[in-house]
Amino acid sequence: MYKKSTILVAVCMATIVGAAEPIKTATPNVWQAIPNPVPANPELDKRVEQILAQMTLEQKVAQMIQPEIRSVTPADVRKYGLGSVLNGGGSFPKGNKRAAVSDWTALAKAYFEAASIVGESKIVVPILWGTDAVHGHNNVYGATLFPHNIGLGATRDAELVKAIGLATANEVAATGIEWAFAPTVAVTSDFRWGRTYESFSEDPALVQKLSASVVEGLQGTAGQPGFLGPGHVLATAKHFIGDGGTKNGMDQGDTLVTEQELAAIHGAGYRGALGAGAQTVMVSFSSWQGVKLHGHRYLLTDVLKGKLGFDGFIVSDWNGIGQVSGCSNSACVPAVLAGIDMFMVPEDWKAFYTNLLASVGRGEVPVERINDAVRRILRVKARLGLLDPAIAAQRHNNVTPSIVGQASHRELARRAVRESLVLLKNKDAILPLKRNLNVLVAGPGADDIGRQSGGWTLTWQGTGNTNADFPRATSIYAGIAETVKGYGSAELSVSGAYKKRPDVAIVVLGEEPYAEGQGDRSNLNLSAARPAELEILKSLKAQGIPVVTVLLTGRPLWTNPEINNSNAFVVAWLPGSEGAGIADVLFRAVDGAVQHDVTGQLPFRWPAEPNQAQVIRTSAAPAPLFALGYGLSYKSSDTLSDTLPVPLAVASKGPAEIKLFERGPVSPWRLSVGDKARWVFPVTGSKTTSANGVITLTSFDRNVQEDSRRAVWNGSGVGQVFLHAEPAQDLSAMRAAGGALIIDMMLESRPTNPVELRIDCGYPCGAKGNISGILEQVPLNTWFSFSMDLACFENAGADMKKVDTGMLIATGGKLSLSFTGVRMVAGAAATSDIRCGK
Ligand code: BGC
Ligand code: BGC
Repeated sequence: MYKKSTILVAVCMATIVGAAEPIKTATPNVWQAIPNPVPANPELDKRVEQILAQMTLEQKVAQMIQPEIRSVTPADVRKYGLGSVLNGGGSFPKGNKRAAVSDWTALAKAYFEAASIVGESKIVVPILWGTDAVHGHNNVYGATLFPHNIGLGATRDAELVKAIGLATANEVAATGIEWAFAPTVAVTSDFRWGRTYESFSEDPALVQKLSASVVEGLQGTAGQPGFLGPGHVLATAKHFIGDGGTKNGMDQGDTLVTEQELAAIHGAGYRGALGAGAQTVMVSFSSWQGVKLHGHRYLLTDVLKGKLGFDGFIVSDWNGIGQVSGCSNSACVPAVLAGIDMFMVPEDWKAFYTNLLASVGRGEVPVERINDAVRRILRVKARLGLLDPAIAAQRHNNVTPSIVGQASHRELARRAVRESLVLLKNKDAILPLKRNLNVLVAGPGADDIGRQSGGWTLTWQGTGNTNADFPRATSIYAGIAETVKGYGSAELSVSGAYKKRPDVAIVVLGEEPYAEGQGDRSNLNLSAARPAELEILKSLKAQGIPVVTVLLTGRPLWTNPEINNSNAFVVAWLPGSEGAGIADVLFRAVDGAVQHDVTGQLPFRWPAEPNQAQVIRTSAAPAPLFALGYGLSYKSSDTLSDTLPVPLAVASKGPAEIKLFERGPVSPWRLSVGDKARWVFPVTGSKTTSANGVITLTSFDRNVQEDSRRAVWNGSGVGQVFLHAEPAQDLSAMRAAGGALIIDMMLESRPTNPVELRIDCGYPCGAKGNISGILEQVPLNTWFSFSMDLACFENAGADMKKVDTGMLIATGGKLSLSFTGVRMVAGAAATSDIRCGK
């Protein structure tokens, strides 16, 4: 009774107050301020204000701009007084993938010397160069590549992760660069997401802890000598906020959680990183409840700068502003008003500069907002010592190039590989192995350093690399060979066929490199995507050869068929350049003792079903095969059966959909162009021309970054663009399920010669159809979906059991044609544009 009346009174009071001044919708106080570990420095603040007061509006706006090194020269930096530059994934000095450390330092010095000169007293404000050093200084030839964050999450070793942050900072600083776009502090909540491997864990507490460690390693310890000093670089907590929580794990998608969950789950990494003093935060491409973060004033200004108390600066992501409604890559007032301070406008920066100046002139952007941005940028530069000419010059004059890839860093990376391994099965304690065995080392990942390193490795996607691109690095096979040398033998055979009957086979299989949305998947079914690798395991098992499977992966996968066909099963994640760390754990010491026990624990739950991709954080979550934190040691006795369930539907029926291209080629499919000078010319960068120049393929954005390709044929001969897989794929189930090949395409010009669409089964095995008729009819410059019954190809002689080219378009005339999606869909034959089945 008493309680009830109190409530009534409270309601009445609220109403009365409300009459005078509208009540704000009560936001629960879910955002706790993060104590800033960087001590207050009134001297520094005063200096920043002095500089700010002397800057012209033009100079201020230029401080807020970050172009990409391919689109900005040191002369531009000087002329405008730009605040920063970046090199994107796979962008190097002189466009040279194998650029020497001296090329990096020379370019960095040139940008540094082009610093902005401010005011009467000619104050020098140098630029900041930012780079994606996300698993070591990964764009640099010869750098140490550490395991991706998912592997570090498996180590749970904060001290190790801090040491990796420091080693990475040392390598970045040794190239004259002062800013790392790391760590990614995402809490991945759906494993279909292509950036799952950039995330430490699904566990917010672990993400919080390791984010703090990376930041302390990169920047040094706030409040202690050496913080942001020589050998240290700025850290970036990214991508704010909720990047790992998007619906269906779609990259750049929409995170539909409550504000409470946004703070508690996706905010954890910021509590760690900002709590350790991270000086910059990168905005996420994603949305929260339908609103793009790049235009989200509440989250960027009220929450991040306000409630959380962040006093560094906010940087936008690559053309992220262009995705805000009403914006383009070169103009976005809402993003400025939302609170972004530094604008990553890789190409369109000159127009952005002009547009932002004009917006300030028209009063659309208050000068106070510009001052806030520039004050923050100057503050961070001051903390780094850049406003002191002597300290700043040291960053360029006292560099030691040999730090890049130095032995102590490789040792550290190798230790990280050892600690990151997670043992899921060890039947009859087959591991660790003795050294005096004849070992077969098989599978596509056995001797491929690019593959074991994953995305963000020399190139953006991590594709197109060979072992020769990694001086002083070690493949998994090389580590095994070195270990057994003098005691047993190691035979390398990707296919699993051997010359000498082995005592044991170590099969390295799993995902191929990818980055961002190109790594998004519709399910976690490994054997459906890569049936040939399961066949290797089955064949060895049938021959009575014990199998140790080493899985390379950027996410948890449904691997019941692979586990059933393995005696031991080790998840190695994406270990990086020091593949020898794997042999360290798999083998015993010379005297037979265990050298290194396995200590890694799953950073994510491991799925029991191909579609169990979501992290459901309630007791209603379906049981995974292995829980978060699972991992055997050599002391555990393992009782896992060889008959984990493989639902008949999964085993016998093919998948409902096979994607060949979605935002990029979908593994195992690869994209190539060709003409008669070289029929198979792999596409790696964003622009590729065939050897004779007949066909040029360029990436462009339809919906998101580089999700589409435009092929232009110049008519000087036959040219082709195609998606091929190695080994060939068995698509007979897809054909039998009434599958059709569907291409989302657009035509910019009509063909001048016949155009053929082909499926090959090892050329000249294959079948082609003439699609000129269709291309004569469709409207120009309009996206449409074209579909063709797979039976057409089969009837014309394509063996659907061994398709190595899933789609090929060729013509000898002129043509401009774009595509954004290529897939095969079961049951789609019945309604396809060209039908051949009964
Ligand atoms: C990624 C960021 C990265 C930036 C610069 C973007 O596409 O989302 O993580 O830092 O590119 O390379
Ligand atoms: C070429 C072959 C090549 C194939 C790739 C054909 O057009 O003539 O040499 O292997 O394309 O699919």
